[in-house]
Amino acid sequence: MSDCIFCKIIAGDIPSDKVYEDDKILVFKDIAPKAPTHLLMIPKQHIASLAEVTEQDADIMGYMMTKVPQLAKEAGLSNGFRTIINTGDDGGQEVYHIHIHIVGGGGRLPFA
Ligand code: ADP
Repeated sequence: MSDCIFCKIIAGDIPSDKVYEDDKILVFKDIAPKAPTHLLMIPKQHIASLAEVTEQDADIMGYMMTKVPQLAKEAGLSNGFRTIINTGDDGGQEVYHIHIHIVGGGGRLPFA
């Protein structure tokens, strides 16, 4: 998607602080962290939001969930972390390329 900021990050047209990349996903630091560790995991294929996910996306969605604990461990989040997917306007989604927030490192998070 040519007007998608996260697709531009994947393409290298916008810089990001990458922490992990493979052929399927990219993980980078959130530009406005809500906690000492705040990562964003995105699929390289453009999926607008969780509301758009279908059975055809089962492999990539499953793959991302299996990578979350690895990235959290590598980020030092040994005491736990929060994963968030904001969906649509009411869900507070600002960027319409599906992303998993991985947040932690500052003690117990308040309920959100
Ligand atoms: P929200 O802003 O309510 O968390 P989203 O769930 O859509 O909405 O999250 C978008 C996230 O992307 C935000 O946490 C924002 O700080 C982050 N972000 C936006 N632009 C960039 C960027 N260029 N590099 C890194 N993170 C970004």
